[in-house]
Amino acid sequence: MSSDRIIFSRPFRAARELPNVEAVLTSDHSHGDGPFTAAATAKLRDITGAPHALLTTSCTHALEMAGLLLELGPEDEVIVPSFAFTSTATSMALRGSTVVFADIDLATGSLDPESVAAAVTPRTKAVVVIHYGGVAADMEGLQRLADTHGFAIIEDNAHGLGGSYRGRPLGSIGTVGALSFHDTKNVHCGEGGAVLLTDEILMARAEIIREKGTDRARFLRGAVDKYSWQDIGSSYLPSELNAAVLDAQLAEFETIQSNRHRVWDTYAAALPEWAGRNDIQLMTVPSDREHTAHLYYLRVPTEDRRDALISHLSGLGIVAPFHYVPLDSSPAGLKLGRTPNPCVRSAEFSATLVRLPLWPGLTEAQLTRVVEGVTSFAV
Ligand SMILES: *Cc1c(COP(=O)(O)O)cnc(C)c1O
Repeated sequence: MSSDRIIFSRPFRAARELPNVEAVLTSDHSHGDGPFTAAATAKLRDITGAPHALLTTSCTHALEMAGLLLELGPEDEVIVPSFAFTSTATSMALRGSTVVFADIDLATGSLDPESVAAAVTPRTKAVVVIHYGGVAADMEGLQRLADTHGFAIIEDNAHGLGGSYRGRPLGSIGTVGALSFHDTKNVHCGEGGAVLLTDEILMARAEIIREKGTDRARFLRGAVDKYSWQDIGSSYLPSELNAAVLDAQLAEFETIQSNRHRVWDTYAAALPEWAGRNDIQLMTVPSDREHTAHLYYLRVPTEDRRDALISHLSGLGIVAPFHYVPLDSSPAGLKLGRTPNPCVRSAEFSATLVRLPLWPGLTEAQLTRVVEGVTSFAV
């Protein structure tokens, strides 16, 4: 029977969330940069190998901080994939910079270095890359272009916490990395994020930008005896309540990831025969990358049949959504962006993609229902 709906995503519940929040509330100190902020930040440095990490109020805000740190301005261009979340582009447009759309490669759904090469101009100051679904983009190809043309790489690593590219953890490869702890991501605290940095000078400035333009972070460490206005900035520091939940989640990161991989591996093992018969492309992971099981997606030959698969699954009580709509043809993309070459693969990827339910608590019975639902659909 298929009476219970199988939802697409359900936030993980960690054992220490409520005790941690209780500890914050009874401490009479719930603003940011307390002990849970320090503990969660240390765990993030461990997972990502980044020498510096700062919690933020969201990934969008972490990307905004990247724009401030790189001193993006109206003269600059920032290359962004068309197949992307709005934050990836709007955080750059907020600095007045022109967003230049480049295309993805169909194998990973992430930025294609060749398309980036064709979009570079002398004004290109940065490239923002998403590791779509937690599978690394071609970072070597992008790094080669960055070295040649002198632009910075910003990793929008909202999907890629714990993933790697040729042994290097995602988020700490580019100049700035951004993480999301929105409740649809692998690790969450309702809303939250982080900035990852390797450069010490950028880190010193990032602390100031995050704290309303003040050197409060240095003051808390005892490095200065009072704090004052130093630079532009905003309020990007999350409360200790969010950090308390985040720290509880990160303490169970391995459990979260092994359960997500269990689901991902089940789909990867069960669907190839059906996919082969029906001309379906299943999500793949190049052998030099470790993915994060953030998403499991498949691609159906046409948009009509894709929509038919979504309705078929919906009729069986299974929620399987599509994903990003290309940004280059969006109202803001047309107004604030430039598209030097048509992003045809972004349009195709977007129109043919379906994501299957993926969260740590999915039971074997639910997984069987999803697999049977998918494989009972004839393209
Ligand atoms: C979720 C997401 C964001 C935004 O994250 P928030 O923490 O909600 O601001 C940005 N980029 C990508 C790729 C995302 O998936």
